[in-house]
Parts: sequence; structure tokens; C-alpha cells
Amino acid sequence: MLNLVLFGPPGAGKGTQSQNLIQKHALIHLSTGDLLRNEIAKGTELGLEAKKLMDAGLLVPDEVVISMISNKLDAEKDARGFIFDGFPRTVAQAAALDTLLESKGAGISGMIALEVKDEELQTRLLLRGKESGRPDDANPEVIGKRITEYNNKTAPVASYYKEQNKYKSINGIGTVEEIFTALNEVIEKY
Ligand code: ADP
Repeated sequence: MLNLVLFGPPGAGKGTQSQNLIQKHALIHLSTGDLLRNEIAKGTELGLEAKKLMDAGLLVPDEVVISMISNKLDAEKDARGFIFDGFPRTVAQAAALDTLLESKGAGISGMIALEVKDEELQTRLLLRGKESGRPDDANPEVIGKRITEYNNKTAPVASYYKEQNKYKSINGIGTVEEIFTALNEVIEKY
């Protein structure tokens, strides 16, 4: 199996690159942000609770996202592999993902981080907010909160994979094609 963790701050381009990668490598895209927004759209209890946190730029609890991912892994038994986008976002989530995959005789092939500077992220997210209507992209204060959550809770996840020699980073500034090429150069070595 090819199981990739696509890593990087909000606005780094994980969603865009995931779409290209799933096509080329026949993988399944698992984005916890998309799964949560889907729950909100359906108006479920989980969605209502998550929305309050997401609109404030805060992470939703680990148990919630871990159980969503666990359900998806169970539902996609014949998958060639997965791209994890926006997950794991805490070290606890990373450890839980390893346990879930191990129980299926699989593991993470590697983490690839897209590197983009904070100023560029602010600009990209505000632009996306105008186009997508995502409430968490429209407000500079909420964007700031998300970047702080990222630096405090999510950045340590990189060390988790570095310790396992599974971490690579690439420049996240450039055209979509240039970044896609750089990603594939890393993936070809797995
Ligand atoms: P972005 O990467 O642009 O912040 P996402 O769609 O990945 O966007 O996430 C949107 C929001 O959903 C996050 O700010 C957070 O509130 C919540 N979320 C998504 N994934 C997770 C996760 N793995 N753990 C906790 N919260 C999450």
C-alpha cells in the first residue's frame, strides 16, 4: 500500500495536490476537514459540535477525527492506499493512525510537508475565503488562530515522522505543476 501523509499549514495547497495525486496513483483521499464539513452540511450532532470549534479556528477533539478516519479505513478495504490530508494534526492522532494501520498489516509510507511562509498563507486563505465561502477563511483573526494551533499542536507531528525517518519537505511555493512534480519525485522513491 502507498499511504501518504500530506503535511503543511492551512493554505499550503494540500487539498489541490491531493486531487492530482489520487488520480495519478489511484489512491483514496481522506481529508478530515472535508469529512467534518460534510457532517456540518448533513446537520449531524457531530457536525454541530465541530462547527463551533472550526469557526473559532480551533482543532476538534482527537477522538472525533480518529473515529472518523477509523470508519473510513474500514469502509475502504480494497484501497491501494490513502492520502491523509489535514490528519494527523496532533501527535496523539499520529500514534492512533499507526495503530489503526498496523492492525491492517499496513503503515505510513512517508510524510511530505509543503513549506509555505506565514505571510503567503494569510494572503492565500483570504483569497480562498472570498471564493469558497468557508467562514474560517474569511476572517483574519480566525486564520491567525488556525496558524497558532498549527504551530503549537500540529508542527510537532513532523518530529514524530522524522524520528521514524519518514519525513521529507518540499517548497510549497510555485505553480501547481511544479509542486506536483516535486511531490512525485519523492513518492517514486517509496
Ligand atoms: P485547513 O488545512 O485549511 O485549515 P481543513 O479543512 O484541513 O483546513 O480544516 C478545517 C478545520 O477543521 C480546522 O481548522 C479544524 O478545526 C478542523 N479539523 C480538520 N482536521 C482536523 C484534525 N485532524 N484534528 C482536529 N481538527 C481538525
